[in-house]
Amino acid sequence: MDQGNSKVRLEAPSRRRFFRRLAGGVAVAAAATAAVKSAAAQLSPTASDPAAPPYAVSGREAGMDFYEFHGREAFAYTKKDGNLAVNGFEGKRWAMLIDLRKCVGCQACTAACKFENNIPEGSFRTWVPDVEIGTYPETRRAFLPRLCNHCERPSCIEVCPADATWQRQDGIVEIDYDKCWGCGSCVNACPYDARFINPVTKTADKCTFCSQRVDQGLLPACVETCIGGARQFGDLNDPNDPVTRQIKSEPVQVLKPGTGNQPRVFYIGLPDQLQNNLPGRPTLWSEMFEEAGFKNPETETAGEWRIVGTKEANHG
Ligand code: SF4
Ligand code: SF4
Repeated sequence: MDQGNSKVRLEAPSRRRFFRRLAGGVAVAAAATAAVKSAAAQLSPTASDPAAPPYAVSGREAGMDFYEFHGREAFAYTKKDGNLAVNGFEGKRWAMLIDLRKCVGCQACTAACKFENNIPEGSFRTWVPDVEIGTYPETRRAFLPRLCNHCERPSCIEVCPADATWQRQDGIVEIDYDKCWGCGSCVNACPYDARFINPVTKTADKCTFCSQRVDQGLLPACVETCIGGARQFGDLNDPNDPVTRQIKSEPVQVLKPGTGNQPRVFYIGLPDQLQNNLPGRPTLWSEMFEEAGFKNPETETAGEWRIVGTKEANHG
């Protein structure tokens, strides 16, 4: 290097080193791009692979733009105001994986959520119905932890007349409690009955994946508390995240896959009888489905079940 020249000039061996490193960097970048494409391909459903899980990592990657789908600007990631609580994490896609083989129905998650989020008596952001399936003597009991699915295509957003609900770029669906006037449109539009009107605040309410904790690098309260290790939380856009790896390597199910909402809460070991037959009242979605002449998969039983434990008290 010529110390007397203000411009830095590479000597021959340094130039060779520089170009070797440059070539190495290009190769690494190409390998990384190929790895990302390969991971995306593995995570997206394909017609030729019937075993592929019924979801894509992102509607945008699948060629479906949110604007195309919803036809209105309701999404926070367009605001870009630098507020993490509004925009969420760039490049991440949070999801929950619930392994029903490990859930013991203890309701620790239900209680943790209520304490963390100050949810009034009789209302729940997450709850675990205790369900009995089948008829004697062929019966079994199952626990079905439920919460907002933070859908890839959330049908709750477009119906809000106050633009009070939106989705962060990391997938978390949020509610602006100052804007919400409690009309209940989103409560009816959610095919998962995940929303309710908070009797104290008189606004819509639901699970937020504990975004106040996630933004601090913590896990949602239900995941942190789960004694069975049944609930896991992770980033679907990270192929090395344990949640993503498990979703890729094990059969997973989502609730009501036919809604088109593309839920981002995945289950392992979901009984067939429960996938479309959720406890809870019919929704606007199911009524419209029936009006259109289709059989309502919500009431179309694939087997008998009844709730024997925690009632669907958030709608009570
Ligand atoms: Fe909206 Fe319901 Fe999906 Fe949650 S589960 S994002 S409330 S449609
Ligand atoms: Fe099931 Fe875990 Fe909730 Fe207990 S804390 S009910 S084991 S999900």
